[in-house]
Amino acid sequence: MSDYQIETKCIQSGWQPENGGPRMLPIYQSTTFKYDTSEHMGKLFDLEEEGYFYTRLQNPTNDAVAAKIADLEGGVAAMLTSSGQAANFYAVFNICEAGEHVICASSIYGGTFNLLGVTMKKLGIECTFVDVDAPEEELAKAFKPNTRAVLAESIANPALVILDIEKMARLAHSHGVPLIVDNTFATPVNCRPFEWGADIVTHSTTKYMDGHAMQVGGAIVDSGNFDWEAYGDKFHGLTTPDDSYHGIIYTKKFGKKAYITKATSQLMRDLGSIPSPMNCFLLNVGLETLPLRMERHCYNAQKVAEFLQAHEKVASVNFAGLPGDKYHELAKKYMPKGTCGVISFELKGGREPAVRFMDSLKLASIVTHVADAKTCVLHPASHTHRQLNDQQLKEAGISPGMIRLSVGIENVQDIIQDLSQALEQA
Ligand SMILES: *Cc1c(COP(=O)(O)O)cnc(C)c1O
Repeated sequence: MSDYQIETKCIQSGWQPENGGPRMLPIYQSTTFKYDTSEHMGKLFDLEEEGYFYTRLQNPTNDAVAAKIADLEGGVAAMLTSSGQAANFYAVFNICEAGEHVICASSIYGGTFNLLGVTMKKLGIECTFVDVDAPEEELAKAFKPNTRAVLAESIANPALVILDIEKMARLAHSHGVPLIVDNTFATPVNCRPFEWGADIVTHSTTKYMDGHAMQVGGAIVDSGNFDWEAYGDKFHGLTTPDDSYHGIIYTKKFGKKAYITKATSQLMRDLGSIPSPMNCFLLNVGLETLPLRMERHCYNAQKVAEFLQAHEKVASVNFAGLPGDKYHELAKKYMPKGTCGVISFELKGGREPAVRFMDSLKLASIVTHVADAKTCVLHPASHTHRQLNDQQLKEAGISPGMIRLSVGIENVQDIIQDLSQALEQA
């Protein structure tokens, strides 16, 4: 499907029915798969032959959706996980072990911040958080001999920092490590990090890819471009024999698919976190309309951002689609079709008006979610960052009056009317 445009790939990639087969992707709701001979099954366990044997490792429904996402990103292979958290964990842990080090954007999603800063630290993996807006010479100082990867988001959730992907890829590659980009908010419809030098892409498919808030899921996609053998001393898990598979060497046996094959056959086998076939089916339905939805999310968010910016009760608006935004130029370069539907803004007067505003909304709902069809809001100071005092909030880059608004795909006039009446109450 690689010659088609992304709108076509969203519909046609992945599941390819045979003559007389079901047109829609079937849900293979089966833990296991049957073989005629014991020998055949043995070959699957040795990775000698491709095939399904147990859904903790692979399932045909999941693989069809993984193939679609790989095609959307322009990668060679993908693996689905049961959450975005699992995707980012596996993406790093697949090439990094105790005693090694990663570099991560400080503006990263809170869940990933905890994953790297707290949980992976307990596994002996150290993380340095950096300001991705810093000059290259400054960022270069974060690299160590044991650094194994750089991780950042194409659009940071919720800070809305737009990543200079080419700059980060150049830095990572000049230090012999891959750049991993979490492309959740932009989606491959609006940004394709591989075209700018990223090596691995991750997703929380829970957000726009699903688009209807139906399933929690994740994905890891490999571009196939990083030369693991050129840095074999760093990535020995990929370039030296795996004793748990009779000494196969992933890069030798699987070439460009080495990274995803290792993630599937080692990490999925040992740690689980496979999504259910039912959830993959739902994700696939969401992917079919992703380009249409992203277009509408961006259109609506632009109108809403302009409305908020002009409103007397609003102190400031963060949205890269606004010409004055700090990230406007980077967004135009990396996401010419638009960024996403998420806006953050600040009300004059801080915390109390923000709470009154939110309680007055009728259409927009208060939920701990972003990036689906329904307009929703979150007040970080009262919700996700509730335990912090005002000084700590400031250090985390969040002000007491900041509101995170995820603009949905309803009629934009209705959304603006709702915001307008709630602003009156604030
Ligand atoms: C939500 C999110 C995650 C975590 O994904 P889950 O599916 O909730 O586990 C990771 N990265 C980004 C950018 C997210 O928005």
